[in-house]
Amino acid sequence: MLVTLRDVPADAEIPSHQLLVRGGYIRRIGSGIYAYLPMMWRVLRKINAIVRDELNSLGALETLLPQLQPADLWEKSGRWQGYTEGEGIMFHLEDRQGRQIGLGPTHEEVITELAGDLLRSYRQLPVTLYQIQTKFRDEIRPRFGLMRGREFIMKDAYSFHASQDDLESTYQAMAAAYARIFQRCGLEAVAVDADSGAIGGAASQEYMVTAAAGEDLILTSSDGLYAANQEKASSLPAPAQPLDDGPERILETPNQISIEQLCAANDLEPSQTVKVLVLLARLDDGREQPILVSLRGDQDLNDVKLANAVSRSLDAAVLEIRPISENQLCQQDLPEFPFGSIGPDLSDSMLKGCRSWQGHFLRLADATALDLPRFVCGANTKDQHCWGRTWDAMPAQIRADLRTAQAGDQCVHDPSQTLSECRGIEVGHIFQLGRKYSEALDARFTNSSGQQEALLMGCYGIGISRLAQAAVEQHHDDAGISWPAGIAPFQVIVVIAKMQDSTQVTLGEGLYQSFLDAGIDALLDDRDERAGVKFKDADLIGIPWRIVVGRDAGEGKVEVVERSTRSSTSIPHQEALQKVKDSIFTRL
Ligand code: ATP
Ligand code: MG
Repeated sequence: MLVTLRDVPADAEIPSHQLLVRGGYIRRIGSGIYAYLPMMWRVLRKINAIVRDELNSLGALETLLPQLQPADLWEKSGRWQGYTEGEGIMFHLEDRQGRQIGLGPTHEEVITELAGDLLRSYRQLPVTLYQIQTKFRDEIRPRFGLMRGREFIMKDAYSFHASQDDLESTYQAMAAAYARIFQRCGLEAVAVDADSGAIGGAASQEYMVTAAAGEDLILTSSDGLYAANQEKASSLPAPAQPLDDGPERILETPNQISIEQLCAANDLEPSQTVKVLVLLARLDDGREQPILVSLRGDQDLNDVKLANAVSRSLDAAVLEIRPISENQLCQQDLPEFPFGSIGPDLSDSMLKGCRSWQGHFLRLADATALDLPRFVCGANTKDQHCWGRTWDAMPAQIRADLRTAQAGDQCVHDPSQTLSECRGIEVGHIFQLGRKYSEALDARFTNSSGQQEALLMGCYGIGISRLAQAAVEQHHDDAGISWPAGIAPFQVIVVIAKMQDSTQVTLGEGLYQSFLDAGIDALLDDRDERAGVKFKDADLIGIPWRIVVGRDAGEGKVEVVERSTRSSTSIPHQEALQKVKDSIFTRL
């Protein structure tokens, strides 16, 4: 069943998505919902086999956990609300008894509940369990085919330990297994430091397949010692331009709402200013917290760092953080704020009498802002700024790293190095969870001194279906896909050029059979189509070797074409089998 398309599907923006649809690998059933057609399923099974092989060799045990997950488990971990309300991504439903159930987006809750039940003594530890399974996430922006689906295949593994040392050694072993998995899948993947949420300090790495279509931005140093997701990256900011000496004074700044406008009109550098963002955080405990964030004028806010800082400061999970709008102020019965002229000392009295918000601001300031001895900022009166202010008379600020690191910044580990950027597709993530879930779900074991202790945990994911498409993104050309041999649906395609020619048919079928007999995954194109059509299709579907049985069949010769290089040679048919065998053998 090979149904290829000549035209690029209208909804497919990136090459890998276009090629998988055109090559008859996947079909869209709904937004973010795809059918894996038979050849795709072969690719996915090859990837799964590699993953299983590597994880089994670490001693991990394969399991299969339920996709229907009772809400009360997620209530215990405190994640039900965050995952089901607002921008929450968990599909959820009510069963006939009126009980809430979620469709598994991930399995920390289920596995921790099980571990608490099953792993009672340090003698049973360590244990690593994994599964390969369909996950469900109601993504806000499903796109790029399998890259961001609402139903996708994931390998997720969870490890349980009695000590931090033991967790770290499994984490390292998993990192090494991941490197081998991606290499065997023919992928160039880099490990980068990743955000680990509000639990500061927990180690976490993402595996990125570098590709222009990647949704993540990676920052790396040229000495190879630093690589991080921009969400997490830190760097040295450029030095600030000092402000001239002089007494504090008010600047009239009509229509100077942005830092650019303010600087242009008053002959300032952005690094001489402090900008203040006014935001509202919704927390999982129901609080609605107004926030003032101060940044040096030339810096950009990093949303992930902000969410982590807010969560840490308020000891609650953040559901969402958004800029405060005039409309919201109206709904809270609050007066208009002096937007465009707000300073870090905007008074808490601005919030007096509000309906549901907390009555004070959480004041967070990035280090770059706090380190300015003197600066220009909003005067909290419309169309006015204040020149030459200091932090002395300001309300207390919580110091945090909130700025976005950027390409060109100097590196923290070595200021002579600068960061450069590239885009990446996250295909895997490893994470030392620590006791976050075991504490919440009361998963305890008896340690060697007879005491009860919460289990230490690690979790390790690979996006199997995303990885398959990422491989195409990394391995294709104008003519189509060029599967890495390790995960190709077939190793070889035998194309009989002219089905009316019985010599070609006999030789082709015989050769095809000899591949099968040798245990090589082979496909036979014996369709009654023009040779040109078959060659185009073979290029499109991207099988590593193509054997064409054509004009020279009478002399027992066939043409062998290597998909990756498109180089072709005409050789006796007996040698074709050996050539393909050799290529598989050298790979192993
Ligand atoms: P992302 O940041 O891309 O949304 P994530 O950090 O939420 O991913 P994890 O929870 O770490 O993802 O899931 C493990 C792996 O599953 C990811 O590394 C990624 O490869 C894959 N994955 C996550 N979401 C999707 C999706 N919607 N479609 C396909 N694969 C996905
Ligand atoms: Mg992740």
